[in-house]
Amino acid sequence: MLTKTLYVIVDIIAIIDILFTIKAIAKVSAAYARWLRYTLIASIMAICANILVACSFSPLCAEVAYCFYFASIDWIIYFLTGFCLLYTEHNAAITKLYIPAACVMAIDSISLFANLIFENHFSIYEKTASSVIFYQTTFHPMYFVHLAIDYIAILAALYFIIYRIAKTYDMYRMKYVIILSVLLFVIIMNLAYMTLSLVLDASVVFYAVAGTLIYFCTEVYVPRKLMSTSVARAVDDMNEGLILFDISNNCIYANAFCSFRFDIDINNYDFTCEPVASVIKDLASQGKRFGESSYVRSDGVITEYYKIKYTSLLDRHARSIGTYFLIQDTSEEKHYMAEIEEARIAADNANSAKSTFLANMSHEIRTPLNSVLGMNEMILRTSEDKEIREYAESIKTSGKTLLSLINEILDFSKIEAGRMDIIESEYNISQLIRDCYAFFEAPAASKDLYLNISFDEKIPMFLKGDALHIKQVITNLISNAVKYTKEGGVTMNVTENHIGNNRIELIIEVSDTGMGISDEDKPYLFESFKRVNEKENATIQGTGLGLAITKQLIAMMNGDITVDSIIGEGSSFKVVIPQDVASSMPSGPLILKHAPEEETYKESFRAPDAHILIVDDVLLNLKVACALLKKTLIKIDTATSGAEAISMCHKEKYDVILLDHRMPDKDGIETFREISEKGLNKTTPVVMLTANALSGADEEYKHLGFSGYLSKPIDIKALEQTLIKLLPEDIVFQ
Ligand code: ADP
Repeated sequence: MLTKTLYVIVDIIAIIDILFTIKAIAKVSAAYARWLRYTLIASIMAICANILVACSFSPLCAEVAYCFYFASIDWIIYFLTGFCLLYTEHNAAITKLYIPAACVMAIDSISLFANLIFENHFSIYEKTASSVIFYQTTFHPMYFVHLAIDYIAILAALYFIIYRIAKTYDMYRMKYVIILSVLLFVIIMNLAYMTLSLVLDASVVFYAVAGTLIYFCTEVYVPRKLMSTSVARAVDDMNEGLILFDISNNCIYANAFCSFRFDIDINNYDFTCEPVASVIKDLASQGKRFGESSYVRSDGVITEYYKIKYTSLLDRHARSIGTYFLIQDTSEEKHYMAEIEEARIAADNANSAKSTFLANMSHEIRTPLNSVLGMNEMILRTSEDKEIREYAESIKTSGKTLLSLINEILDFSKIEAGRMDIIESEYNISQLIRDCYAFFEAPAASKDLYLNISFDEKIPMFLKGDALHIKQVITNLISNAVKYTKEGGVTMNVTENHIGNNRIELIIEVSDTGMGISDEDKPYLFESFKRVNEKENATIQGTGLGLAITKQLIAMMNGDITVDSIIGEGSSFKVVIPQDVASSMPSGPLILKHAPEEETYKESFRAPDAHILIVDDVLLNLKVACALLKKTLIKIDTATSGAEAISMCHKEKYDVILLDHRMPDKDGIETFREISEKGLNKTTPVVMLTANALSGADEEYKHLGFSGYLSKPIDIKALEQTLIKLLPEDIVFQ
């Protein structure tokens, strides 16, 4: 009875082992799982048959159970071999062999069941042990054919596995060796069992144990082994260094990067060796144990830069189990940054050279232009000949155009060099809009275009902002609208949007009925030197800078500009600029002022008792100034250098001094400073004459002590207005 109980226990062990096989089936990939699942079914059948053998009550029952048992073993071997072939990547062999092998196994199984009629494989005999009857078998030659088939199948599988072991990489070899061991184990156990002729047939247990081993190797051993080998390889392949120290500060690992770069031999490497010594020292000087530090190494020719992180290594329970250094080579990044910095400095230098060049060129162009326009003005004043006056008018128009181009280039270079400042002061918005209207009324009328202004009366009368630049923005937009419109006209709409305490958004919309801008061109509209629709605009003069300057000025004032345009129908530019309110009194209706008709020159005053000094190193400029002021009867002294001017100031007290800015030796500012320091002409107003007139210049010169500035080429009206303002009232007759 005990033996039979043992029999059942052995089978229970087999069942437990089979449970592990079921686990393996759930984890392995679908292709392997199919073969393992069939192995499992065959094993369950073998176990049932084995239990039936143990519980048999007659020889026939035992014979049927044995037939089932031997046939099940056939199929266990068939499916196990199939699994082994798949697992060792012999898919082609599987495809070729699985049908012929299944046929052989099926024939063998049928022949085993034929034993019930022919007794061709084995005969049953009774054996009594401890008064319990067992049914045992004596084998006939056919049974050994059945055994041979099983062993051939197993040997074929062994051959394929050994082949794979020989061909595979070290890393994966262990995976196949385990499967090989499983098969060998099954063979050895079976042979041992047969040699010993035990009462108990335990071979089913061997197969179940084989299943368990397969589970262990596919799920536990191989992945772990593979992981540790792969991680070690990956860390070696890393482009960063890793040095590990154990809890007692013994070096336990340095990857290939470190061994190569720092020649590290882990047996002779400790905290006194570089680069870790420097890192620890640097962190200690900052009062830290762990952290990040930089390390530089140079052999005089090549300098290497490293970023090194020193950290504690913690286990799952956050207990320290060592430390590690992570080393990153930042040399390339450093060199790259240095190159970028060099390129930036070179670009800055080139840019500032360009700005200086543009400023100088504009000065150089303005100086002769001053003479051209000045002399031309004299022709206009003195000539009675209609034809000559017409020629002179043309020179005047072209000269003004040239001047506006120079101004644009100068503004642009100033913005680029970051030297354009936003200077805020109180201004009257109605006045500003009126001026813009007056400026464009005549050009629009000359093209038969209307110029309409719609102005929101509620806009506060006095705002605080950079009126000069707002005027420049509006001027650019109206100028473009007039330039690019052939029929219809231009409308300017000025409104406001209250955005907070004493703050509004000034909204200026300039719309025209001109040629419009295509959707493809819109993105490039605000790019510098970019003119769109070039073919059609070829005859329209422009630099492609106006809108670029406009946009940048608006951005500097924290505003925004948008464009809406339909090709052939017109364009609408909308500008929104936040402004402070200086006085909340509403502006009221806008009364437009018409620009006075261009009339023939007539001096606006006479001052025969006035005595002024004009200083300029270019004789022609002095000549122009004197000619322009001839009719005012002012007494004019001239000087061609700062030194000469100073010596003249020693002798004479002037009513006004007009001083050129750029002069060789002492420039205008130095001359002015010396005159003031020496206490000469103490109360005399000094006006700067400059060809560098840029927006914001007025404030700058006033700050230096000048009474104002006049830009070259000299505008006669501006010159006369300045003199009227600065000369003593009692000697000016208007
Ligand atoms: P430009 O000196 O050429 O006028 P801008 O920067 O002022 O330079 O304008 C750039 C381009 O935008 C112009 O060449 C023109 O093609 C187009 N443009 C500007 N304003 C208008 C407008 N109101 N209608 C049609 N096209 C315009």
